[in-house]
Amino acid sequence: MKVVLIIGAGIGGLTLALKLHSLGVASRIYEAVPKIKSLGVGINILPHAMRELCHLGLEQDIALNSVETQEVQFFNRFGQHIFTDNRGRFGGYEWPQYSIHRGVLQSILLEAVIQRLGHEAVVTNHRLIDLKQTETEVQAIFEIAADKTSQVKVLGDVLIGCDGIHSTVRRKLNPKNDPLVYSGITMWRGVTKWPGFLTGATMIYAGWLQTGKVIAYPIEKADVDGNQLINWLCEFYCSSQKGEGDWGKPGELKDFIWSCDEMNFNWLDIPAMIKRAEFIFEYPMVDRNPLAKWTKERVTLLGDAAHPMYPRGSNGAGQAILDAVDLAKRLSSKVMHQEALELYEHERRPRTTEVVHANRTVPPDAILKEVYDRTGDKPFDEIEDIIKRDELELIANNYKTIAGFDRTSLET
Ligand SMILES: Cc1cc2nc3c(=O)[nH]c(=O)nc-3n(C[C@H](O)[C@H](O)[C@H](O)COP(=O)(O)OP(=O)(O)OC[C@H]3O[C@@H](n4cnc5c(N)ncnc54)[C@H](O)[C@@H]3O)c2cc1C
Repeated sequence: MKVVLIIGAGIGGLTLALKLHSLGVASRIYEAVPKIKSLGVGINILPHAMRELCHLGLEQDIALNSVETQEVQFFNRFGQHIFTDNRGRFGGYEWPQYSIHRGVLQSILLEAVIQRLGHEAVVTNHRLIDLKQTETEVQAIFEIAADKTSQVKVLGDVLIGCDGIHSTVRRKLNPKNDPLVYSGITMWRGVTKWPGFLTGATMIYAGWLQTGKVIAYPIEKADVDGNQLINWLCEFYCSSQKGEGDWGKPGELKDFIWSCDEMNFNWLDIPAMIKRAEFIFEYPMVDRNPLAKWTKERVTLLGDAAHPMYPRGSNGAGQAILDAVDLAKRLSSKVMHQEALELYEHERRPRTTEVVHANRTVPPDAILKEVYDRTGDKPFDEIEDIIKRDELELIANNYKTIAGFDRTSLET
């Protein structure tokens, strides 16, 4: 029987284990941290990824612990409405879109893995430090956190690097010239318990990066007082920063609050909400240049390890989930291991490369840039005088097509 060694118990690694299990392929996950904790803030699971999680029987758990997104509304920094994009089932899709805490999604996946594959399927406290391949197998070498002098060696048929943006597997396959690339944009993120706004399931984008842009959406259902956990982020061009891609770096209010201080709209007082945050993270937005190759014999990459991308457009988790499903199907087919990995790369590398480039150049909120440029950052009388609805739809749909969540692609 094929044994798949999965490095990293993030969203991609856990989904891969679940999909492989559903197709009868054995796997084991090795995770560096001693205990998997609920880390990060909010993310969106777009319909293309939700379709796969629904097929894995996870929709009920996700729906219970998240908000089903109804729409995305775009505003300028004066709070003037530009465009509404209905999402998921509210936009006529067969599949929903959910806004959820990253840590909650990870816990749902982890629990499903433990229930279906058993406790022994997830080995924590094992940090991959090296790997070796022969013609017949791959050897993974781990360091145990508490005892850095001892190493553990494990054999498998294939090894999949799902070890995130700082992937060791990627470094082993591509040791040279693969630095983090800083976008010039830094974002501050956090969550605040706050009264629900608009539909209670609306994601908002307001402003633009020159002066400050805010994104906010609820990730928990309303409590008895009508308060929801709101995920927010504030970002702008910030050339002096250095991008290190540390998801856990604390941030400070004084470094960014001025950029959204005037965004007090009658349906949401953004600065007041941000000032009440439980905590703040700072994340200089980084990615890496797409690789020309992910696979070397019995080893390949998946998720952020394969294609780290700017966290824009809700695609980091989604593309990792799509990778996992494609790879699991190939590994469960009759083809040889190496061929399965090559076929997976052939399908997924070009698609995700396009998303990496789109996130750099034409992200989903390119609508805001267009309006910012055309109005010279001034309030408008009628949005129709600035940009027609058809054009706005075209911009929004262009990104959906590149990222593979346009309705036509999902109907096939
Ligand atoms: C702590 C954390 C917080 C995050 N917060 C956010 C957020 O708030 N918003 C957002 O958009 N995205 C966030 N992300 C990134 C987001 O999870 C990914 O972009 C996306 O889900 C793709 O997932 P992935 O499985 O490829 O990588 P990740 O989710 O990053 O998972 C990688 C896993 O590999 C493990 N790992 C790393 N190196 C090794 C090694 N050498 N050996 C064994 N295991 C290893 C890591 O501990 C981690 O569990 C966060 C990631 C992490 C790790």
